[in-house]
Amino acid sequence: MFNKTNGRSFSRDGQKDSGGRKTDDRRSKSFSNGHNNSSSNNGDNYSRGRSSSGNRSSGFSGSRGGFGGGNRGGGRGGRKMSVFNDISKFINKSNVKEINEVPEIYIPENTFTSLNIDERLKKNILDCGYANPTLIQDKSIPSILAGRDLVGIANTGTGKTAAFLLPLINKVLKNKKEMVIILAPTRELAVQIDDEFKKFTKGLKIWSICAVGGMPIFKQIKDFRYDHNFVIGTPGRLKDLIERGVINIKEFSTIVLDESDRMLDMGFVDDMKFLMREIPKPHQTLFFSATVSPAVSTIIKEFLVDPVSIQVKTRDTAASIDQDVVHVKGKEKMSVLHDLLIDPDFEKVIIFGKTKLGVDKIHKNLQILGHKSIAIHGDKRPRERNFAIKSFKDNHAKILIATDVAARGLDIPNVSHVINYDLPSTYEDYIHRIGRTGRAGKVGKALTFID
Ligand code: ADP
Ligand code: MG
Repeated sequence: MFNKTNGRSFSRDGQKDSGGRKTDDRRSKSFSNGHNNSSSNNGDNYSRGRSSSGNRSSGFSGSRGGFGGGNRGGGRGGRKMSVFNDISKFINKSNVKEINEVPEIYIPENTFTSLNIDERLKKNILDCGYANPTLIQDKSIPSILAGRDLVGIANTGTGKTAAFLLPLINKVLKNKKEMVIILAPTRELAVQIDDEFKKFTKGLKIWSICAVGGMPIFKQIKDFRYDHNFVIGTPGRLKDLIERGVINIKEFSTIVLDESDRMLDMGFVDDMKFLMREIPKPHQTLFFSATVSPAVSTIIKEFLVDPVSIQVKTRDTAASIDQDVVHVKGKEKMSVLHDLLIDPDFEKVIIFGKTKLGVDKIHKNLQILGHKSIAIHGDKRPRERNFAIKSFKDNHAKILIATDVAARGLDIPNVSHVINYDLPSTYEDYIHRIGRTGRAGKVGKALTFID
């Protein structure tokens, strides 16, 4: 079975592994495993979810500007809707016109300097350009540092990743025996959390392993030989690795569920419960999302111990997103789209389509019309998905056409517009789709095509 060996050193100087991780000076672990080829859910498939609620505000402050305000709130019950089309929900004029023009400045109670965290970590945070904590960071970091279970609900793009990573990195810095497991619904999101982790841990000699579905498992198994305190991945693959004896869940003391409601929608409920049951007690559990469904509340009640609940939302959607509809009845949708995209204001655009086939079709048509676009959906191979995200991030393609696989958590800087070419299935999907713009103190626009 799994066995930590601290002595043997396994140097892969300057060599990058699959996750692009430099693995120069870390110590290795040895293990054996019962190789079998059980498959795992790779995070591509999903079914639909439902409801959320929120109140109070969220935002960035300090040098990056802030946002907040608004007053819409709201329960939406637990209904499943085949297509969500409440037009009033798609219109929400933002009063934020410029990045530095903010409706409300939030003054955090803590600064990164005043927080009781390791000085080296503070330096890395400053090196990342973070001047002050966002509201969700300000409110949740002290409780996580105190070891509490926590449910953190805040709008899209308000820094939830750092809200859990920073105190947990500090936990490991204080005690190198601490092991943290982080679950995310999609490959892309797990990789993004891992990238963020690497920025914060530069030079700290704390390592992570990113293990996601859809990638060759044997390569991932090899990664587990190397010293690590964080494992970040999709639930199905992590469960698979535990069952193969590669991950010893009994070594872990902290579990994070990012975008927990999405993981439930995607059918990961049993895998999530398995992980939370197997991790030894006592442990620290953290749930983060922009939306909570009743099913998530049930799990929270079952698995979290006296959790601190932090909800920092005045409204469902971020105030930094200007939302409107485009009436397409009797018009050719593709030519309406083309007319929008030739406007120079549409600098970096994500277009959401309902089906994989539909997404491919939009992509093909846009290419014929001379647009630089790229498509992503669950039928694409991991390499193609990575390539699509990278080309869009690096501005090689200015248009990304996607199914809801790209709606959750992805943090791509400077997306100017999100266009719902096809309606989302639920209001939660809508919130997460449009949340790809108007992030980190920037403003963005969301347009929804309606008949
Ligand atoms: P969420 O999970 O809430 O959708 P992310 O964690 O992806 O948001 O963060 C959104 C963006 O904000 C990221 O680019 C991140 O680097 C940036 N960010 C997070 N915290 C801060 C901060 N305190 N100051 C400045 N930028 C931040
Ligand atoms: Mg997130």
